[in-house]
Amino acid sequence: MKTIRIAALAALLGTTGAHAQSGTQAAYDAFAPAYVVSSPDTYHKSLGGIARNAQSRRDGAGNDVVISEVSQHQLPDVTERIHSRERRCGGFFSFETRAEAEAFVHSAVSPAAVASIPIVYTIDNQATVMPWLPQVREDNIYRTIKHLSTAYQNRYYASANAHAPSVWIHDTWLGLAAGRDDVSAVLFPCSACGNQYSVILSIEGSENPDEIVVLGAHLDSIALGGNTKAMLAPGADDDASGIATLTEALRVALASGWKPKRTVMFMAYAAEEVGLRGSLAIAESFKTDGRKVVGVLQLDMTNYKSGNGPDLRLMTDNSDPALQSFVAALFEEYLAPIGPTLGSFTCGYGCSDHASWTIKGYPSAMLFEAGDDDGGYFPYIHSPHDKLENMGDSAGRSVYFAQMALAFMGEVGKTAAGTPGGRVADAR
Ligand SMILES: [Zn+2]
Repeated sequence: MKTIRIAALAALLGTTGAHAQSGTQAAYDAFAPAYVVSSPDTYHKSLGGIARNAQSRRDGAGNDVVISEVSQHQLPDVTERIHSRERRCGGFFSFETRAEAEAFVHSAVSPAAVASIPIVYTIDNQATVMPWLPQVREDNIYRTIKHLSTAYQNRYYASANAHAPSVWIHDTWLGLAAGRDDVSAVLFPCSACGNQYSVILSIEGSENPDEIVVLGAHLDSIALGGNTKAMLAPGADDDASGIATLTEALRVALASGWKPKRTVMFMAYAAEEVGLRGSLAIAESFKTDGRKVVGVLQLDMTNYKSGNGPDLRLMTDNSDPALQSFVAALFEEYLAPIGPTLGSFTCGYGCSDHASWTIKGYPSAMLFEAGDDDGGYFPYIHSPHDKLENMGDSAGRSVYFAQMALAFMGEVGKTAAGTPGGRVADAR
């Protein structure tokens, strides 16, 4: 942790030249190439006219994809075009070299291969989860969204202060642990993330520490249509809401003295808006190290309701069918009895960080904010108007998501014997 913090400071102090290198982080070079991996549909609808040298590929998972080339400074244009022409978020991965893009496409893992990994999900930890649910506080979620959406001009990965929200989340999450020696946090570097770091907080498992449960959201923001590095980009819904929701779930669990059987990791990803870079760096690293991730839950946009549809929507694509079913079962067990409804949403290739885990062969699922099935979402994302004031000045919509995060961590992470909600003597 310490060496990474020092690298963060070095990156902060040493990146004035366009090609300056500092630690493992490269400075932002506006005219360096970026290699975009997208669906053919996105290439034809949104990338025509700005992308060059396109090549069709079939990836290792069987998806038809296109690798094309733009300049780094055009990545916000890519996001804007997908946003305005296809009415959707995300939609691509991006790389600094064609070789990296080719290797990524080649290495994609098929859903069938993920399904063949024997992970059994069970719902039997009501003793831990039920007491947590009423402890979720809207005002805590509100305060975290407020900080993240007002303390910085933006959280764009290439802006001058891109490191600041990473450090704040690191310190805030670790602060909730109150010195527990089974809880640690690191700033996780990514070569294509500029001065921005992902954050990983780990609660070490008592019985199966090698089996990892991940709950994630992205910490960066973006506003389109001007100078991306300087524009106001509050990113209150996209995705301060996800970070704030996870922060509150973490607070409730740690305040109860909970210790998991499996290792539980909270992740705040850097540079999602320019091609899922922070999450992909982590998923790749975990894959290389042979780490066993048993389930990933992504929260990207939790705090708005469009139309009259369900209160939460489960992504139907780029995620694991078995884990989707399990999340739906968690909803039936814990949330449905207190009132909310669950729908579905299909978001397309590479739409948020869950796709990074999926493509690396890990079971992953994502919950998305309220609205009709495949209907709309918060209309002000990727703009200076993505503020709490435009979401009813409340974090009330996110409370259900924090409760789902608690159900997920309680039931996938389970509870160590002898701790609150755990069996005094583990009978099994
Ligand atoms: Zn987002």
